[in-house]
Amino acid sequence: MKITFPHMGRAYIPIQGLLEKAGLETVVPARPHRRGVELGARYAPEFVCLPFKSTLGDFIDGLEKGADTLAMVCGMWACRFGYYGRVQHQILRDLGYEFDSILIGKDDLMTVLRKFISAMPKKKRLRRIVAAIVMFRARARLVDEWEWQARRMRPVERISGSADEVLSAFFTRLETAPNLRSVRRLRREAMKALAKVPLREDRRPLKVALLGEVYMVLEPNLNLELERGMGELGMEVHPVLTTYRWLLKPFRILDPRIELTEAWARRVSRPYVRYVLGGEEHWTIAGTIQAAKRGYDGVVHVYPLTCMPENICRSILPKVTEKYNIPLLDLCFDEHSSPVGIRTRLEAFGDLLERRRSSTPAAGSG
Ligand code: SF4
Repeated sequence: MKITFPHMGRAYIPIQGLLEKAGLETVVPARPHRRGVELGARYAPEFVCLPFKSTLGDFIDGLEKGADTLAMVCGMWACRFGYYGRVQHQILRDLGYEFDSILIGKDDLMTVLRKFISAMPKKKRLRRIVAAIVMFRARARLVDEWEWQARRMRPVERISGSADEVLSAFFTRLETAPNLRSVRRLRREAMKALAKVPLREDRRPLKVALLGEVYMVLEPNLNLELERGMGELGMEVHPVLTTYRWLLKPFRILDPRIELTEAWARRVSRPYVRYVLGGEEHWTIAGTIQAAKRGYDGVVHVYPLTCMPENICRSILPKVTEKYNIPLLDLCFDEHSSPVGIRTRLEAFGDLLERRRSSTPAAGSG
């Protein structure tokens, strides 16, 4: 079995660790890029959301690199995510590709586990499974820790891009870290390297929450390096959803805080969205309210053009932001979005937040 799976931010690093520690062979597709999205867009239904097109492009790349099994998480049926895996795999079969499907969430858990376990080497299976889970969690935590460090450092760096430069080398090394000891060593080395990055102590960054559809929040190659761009403009970005949270959600037992915050977001957003829409609507609404209560300077809401849950949020958010008095920037992406257009809107938003903060000194504290 040679398994491939689509990208979403740096989720591939822990997923690859999990599968390889279990003794399975993986084929990681190239990071999402324009040609992949174009390929996906060519074969996908015209009005389907952008992540569908991008992940379809990932599967094509994985198959062309020799994968024979496609693994995909399936959402519930409220939004298109529930159909992603099935429809994508059908499109690929119509194109003539032959492969086995693992649809996590559609097939019951035992079927999925049986498929994985039957492909594992026969010896020491239990030990391999435990090692795989430990490696998955360790890599996921380190990816999360480094991503948060980059967010805090970008707006106060003396030389723009230095923290990212340091971390990108460590992320590459983490991809091939063979065991827990090497993961821990990388963590120590990265801490030392980051401590040498010169920072400006006199800067007070704007605090901005980033929320919306999870794929657009987490995939820098599709959101046109949004976090990095916001950091360069003096914004300390606080995404409401992170790779770690998304990855650990199905394994809540490994981190019970995930379950608690999920329930909290549903409760806080209920007055505005009473039903489950299938996406991140509860996080978008609850995250905006939380950002206002914590004294953030603003909120950036990102989503793909035809995203059903987030378009509903888009019509609700003006009410929420007015009630809680927090500025909002909506950024809608499709395959034609331009980096220049996004940058211009971010610059204007940053200016607005700076002016607002200087005229109301209390805002932005906290
Ligand atoms: S949340 Fe939006 S973008 Fe994601 S699958 Fe559902 S409709 Fe598509």
